[in-house]
Amino acid sequence: MINPFSKLGISDDVVNAVKALGFENPTPIQEQAIPVLLEGSNDFVGLAQTGTGKTAAFGLPLLELIDFKSNKPQALILCPTRELCLQIANDIRNFSKNTPNASVVAVYGGANIMQQLREIRNGVQIVVATPGRMLDIIGRKAIDFSNVKYVVLDEADEMLNMGFQEDINDILSTTPDDKKTWLFSATMPPEVRRIAKNYMDNPTELTMGTKNTGNVNIEHEYYIVKARDKYAALKRIVDYNPDIFGVVFCKTKMDTQDVAEHLIKDGYNADALHGDLSQQQRDKVMQRFRDRNMQLLIATDVAARGIDVNNVTHVINYALPDEIESYTHRSGRTGRAGKTGVSICIINAKETGKIRQIERIIGKQFTKAELPTGFDVCEKQLFGLVHRVHNVEVNEEQIDKYMSRINDEFADLSKEEVIKKFASLEFNRFLEYYQNAPDLNLSADDRGDRGDRRERGERGERGGRGAEAGYARLFINVGSVDEFTRGDLLSFVCNNGRISGKAVGKIDLKGVFSFVEVESAVAETLLANFKDVQHNGREVRIEVSGDAPRSSSRGGDRGGRGGRDGFGGERRGGYGGERRSGGYGGDRRSSGGGSGRRDRGERSSGGSSEGGFRDFSGRSREERSGGSGRREGGNGGSDRRRRS
Ligand code: AMP
Repeated sequence: MINPFSKLGISDDVVNAVKALGFENPTPIQEQAIPVLLEGSNDFVGLAQTGTGKTAAFGLPLLELIDFKSNKPQALILCPTRELCLQIANDIRNFSKNTPNASVVAVYGGANIMQQLREIRNGVQIVVATPGRMLDIIGRKAIDFSNVKYVVLDEADEMLNMGFQEDINDILSTTPDDKKTWLFSATMPPEVRRIAKNYMDNPTELTMGTKNTGNVNIEHEYYIVKARDKYAALKRIVDYNPDIFGVVFCKTKMDTQDVAEHLIKDGYNADALHGDLSQQQRDKVMQRFRDRNMQLLIATDVAARGIDVNNVTHVINYALPDEIESYTHRSGRTGRAGKTGVSICIINAKETGKIRQIERIIGKQFTKAELPTGFDVCEKQLFGLVHRVHNVEVNEEQIDKYMSRINDEFADLSKEEVIKKFASLEFNRFLEYYQNAPDLNLSADDRGDRGDRRERGERGERGGRGAEAGYARLFINVGSVDEFTRGDLLSFVCNNGRISGKAVGKIDLKGVFSFVEVESAVAETLLANFKDVQHNGREVRIEVSGDAPRSSSRGGDRGGRGGRDGFGGERRGGYGGERRSGGYGGDRRSSGGGSGRRDRGERSSGGSSEGGFRDFSGRSREERSGGSGRREGGNGGSDRRRRS
């Protein structure tokens, strides 16, 4: 039987390589794009979602079209993030592992440029690059693109979102006029259309699947809750899905950090991924997630761009994206490679209009779901425990020596009683937390006066934790993990902001960030003076905390008030030992709070690649290209660019 990839025109070496990767049949995008791209004579625009097999759709034809006898760069693939860059390079190396003399280089910021230059000097045919570092290398005249025949712009919409338009123009201007350009994008906003128009000659256009249709394997759900109940809703969703392996999207870095911190405090195995982390820290977080040593990754849009992790069960939109089209990217983190997944939005009643807009874009309907009641969660957890106990592997050798003592302890109980007590151990804990848990669901109609009052109430509450009268509350992205004490932070802020210590009020030292209150009269001076400040090679950011993470702080507030909080504390404390010893959810806690914090501890000495953030603040390209890949030192750069 002829291999389906051979039928599409792929040669044996490459077919054998993809077979070894477990690719038996082409995905729909591969089926459609490969024959067209193999002709090699046309520009191409592919509207394709993430996780659909896009890389092989352009990677396999490239391997057929490149002359591997020559060691000159013939294909350039540009993509938005370092993660994606590494992913694509790795995939193409795998596809070409039986292709003699094939060489692929990944060129991205935040890594040693000398090594990349060496690889280029040794001869490569395929360059996979993020735009900033590529420009650096072009600026050093270290690469010759005169033989480039194919340029692939992958995730073009995201590259434009991240402000790479000008860089792309500059890079493309160094490639021959007669090269072919292949553009892939999950969405087709006017800016991407413009690129297609400006750089391409009558491109063949393919829409993979129905136009704008999201991945069919993804279910889309939304929950309507009061804004201040978002964190509780998130916890309820997670508790109801004990085996969740998910990505939670927040809008800002601060929210991301804050939600992650609260989840960790509450005993969940979570961590944050955002642009204020150095590349090293980001890599570490991603590795834990990839290895499934972490259950919940809390991320900003930009930081999550390169995430290509299979088997993500849930994407949770803790906040809807500002640009509705980003929803496609977010939800595409689940339902990959034929798996099913759920994309959840936790919204307030006023946001239902946005859900309708998203529905129009993805061409699919959302289900309005109801948050499980406390009782539902208890039941789900109870039976989760029962199944786990039933299936747990017994270490006969180790447990044997304790069995007679254990039996003695239970001698006065019947089998039924032992089972009942054992199940109650976990059930009671959830029951205690959830027995008075309110219904968090709202209907879309709950948006009138009551909704307004709610919003007002929320602001009131926020005001409660705001600055004292006459003071401004400032957020600063350093904290105890940077080995700051309150005193250190006071001098740091005063010295760099050039204000007197007398003007500083309360200092709230947190883990990776802190809040500092300063007299309103000096706040502006401080902010104006506090420019280009670095700590351990990281750019220090200070800003008015008006948009401090509200929903999660609510979680924190709530945490402080009795019943519910007891849950988090109990989880980490009293029950810890038992859990670790193999009881329910041991994984979650033992590798949760603990390793999360450990990671953060390590962050304090994090890499210096973040120094590059400031490059977005308006330095000229000459200045920028003098350095080594600072722009992409981390997605932090990207985040920053997006904000500005
Ligand atoms: P991509 O959209 O290129 O990031 O691919 C998404 C995932 O699908 C990756 O894990 C690929 O390894 C996998 N994949 C791509 N093509 C195929 C195929 N034809 N059969 C099975 N898995 C595939």
